[in-house]
Amino acid sequence: MADGETGELGRIALNRSDLFREQCYINGKWTGDPTIEVRNPATRGVIGRIPNLGKSETETAVAAATAAFPKWKSETAAARAKIMLKWNDLMVAHQEDLARLMTAEQGKPLAEARGEIVYAGSFLQWYGEEAKRVYGDTIPAPAADRRIMVLKQPVGVVGAITPWNFPAAMITRKVGPGIAAGCTIVLKPSELTPYSAFAIAVLAEEAGLPPGVLNIVTGDAEPIGRVLTEDPRIAKFTFTGSTPVGKKLAAQCAGTVKRVSLELGGNAPFLVFDDADLEAAASGAIISKFRNTGQTCVCANRLYVQDGVYDKFATLLAEKAAALAVGDGLVGVTQQGPLINMKALEKVEAHVADAIGHGAKILTGAHRDSHGGTFYQPTVLRDVAPDALLTREETFGPVAGLVRFKSEEDALRLANDSRAGLAAYAFTRELARSWRVSEGLEYGMVGMNTGLISTEVSPFGGVKESGIGREGSKYGLDEFLDLKAVFVQL
Ligand code: ADP
Repeated sequence: MADGETGELGRIALNRSDLFREQCYINGKWTGDPTIEVRNPATRGVIGRIPNLGKSETETAVAAATAAFPKWKSETAAARAKIMLKWNDLMVAHQEDLARLMTAEQGKPLAEARGEIVYAGSFLQWYGEEAKRVYGDTIPAPAADRRIMVLKQPVGVVGAITPWNFPAAMITRKVGPGIAAGCTIVLKPSELTPYSAFAIAVLAEEAGLPPGVLNIVTGDAEPIGRVLTEDPRIAKFTFTGSTPVGKKLAAQCAGTVKRVSLELGGNAPFLVFDDADLEAAASGAIISKFRNTGQTCVCANRLYVQDGVYDKFATLLAEKAAALAVGDGLVGVTQQGPLINMKALEKVEAHVADAIGHGAKILTGAHRDSHGGTFYQPTVLRDVAPDALLTREETFGPVAGLVRFKSEEDALRLANDSRAGLAAYAFTRELARSWRVSEGLEYGMVGMNTGLISTEVSPFGGVKESGIGREGSKYGLDEFLDLKAVFVQL
């Protein structure tokens, strides 16, 4: 073991060291030689290694999921729920270890990681309960001697690929409804944040999840992704990640006509009207913009502020952003961690340079942080040109760019002028406007007078190029169920 390696693990200081695994999980067995290094984005130190699996090992995992499916789907919903509720209990019981592991591999502040573990567990609990209510239908038939029923049945084996920004919740948001519905799963987490996935599998095993129901592979994304999107044994593919990769994977699914769910990039507009509660709007913007260092797909990306409150809001937001404590997430006071890697940092820098080049003024930040590496100062820019890169592309970093608008009509036009359609936010105290704006925004989710929109009880997902399907809520379960119409002639 290299010094750095001992150091990183030592710093995480797990109560239960067996939650840290460096192998993949296939058919209930830990497998594969750990060869790919995983680094802590805050310290750049090596945490450990993970296997570099490819096509044949992924096919083995698909075979295991295929073999496990008939028995798992025929279990009662109550039997599946029992395991899932215990699994959630275990996640909550080991919240601190799971959070520390997540912060080490992903960089988010410990408080956010702790919150994500509870949020992640909530999908296991909620879907464990909800799967008991997978009701079908009876339909009045067009003839007196016929009967028609609609059965809901699990789609089959599911392929899933998840990103690094929510290393636990993006997994359980797919695995929770999938497994509750009676499906079996082969999951490829991000190679940047695999240890949260492995730890979740350790607890799944402990909760009694049978071998083959959940399989986890890591390695070269392309060949693994090919199997998950092209193997005919897989009935459904579900992906959370960037729009270009999502489009490519959806196209790969076409050959075998899989059911596809995609949760892709957003470019969230955040509207502040003259009649808004400015303190609430600025706090909402901080939560929505700077959470996870701006690396969430629902982060406010473009802030449109009405003429009358523009200056006041800009000052308020800049004060709040400047007060955020930047640092290593494992240190208690930290409110903003590092960006995930250099590529992410370079994108942020390019967006800021482009905005300034087009006349934007710096209110706070706009440079790398003294912690070095991929740390970047919380940044607020005003007078951003409406067509700057910062407003056209998802920045995925801690940069709030303010654009001025005059009328409600202007605001909606600017907000809807995007191929993305995931989340949007608006702050106004006028009731009628809140309805007009909620209905006028072409987005899958609207936060009206709030910067927080994620919960397991509500459907999460986008329109336009932000995706297909919904995760969370009763609608999220439908994604893993097929409808079968049964006709009976009496
Ligand atoms: P992000 O910007 O979140 O890294 P990506 O779309 O690159 O977005 O990554 C999301 C997930 O997709 C990760 O698990 C990554 O490994 C995976 N991925 C990236 N490229 C491919 C690919 N060509 N085939 C399959 N999976 C991929």
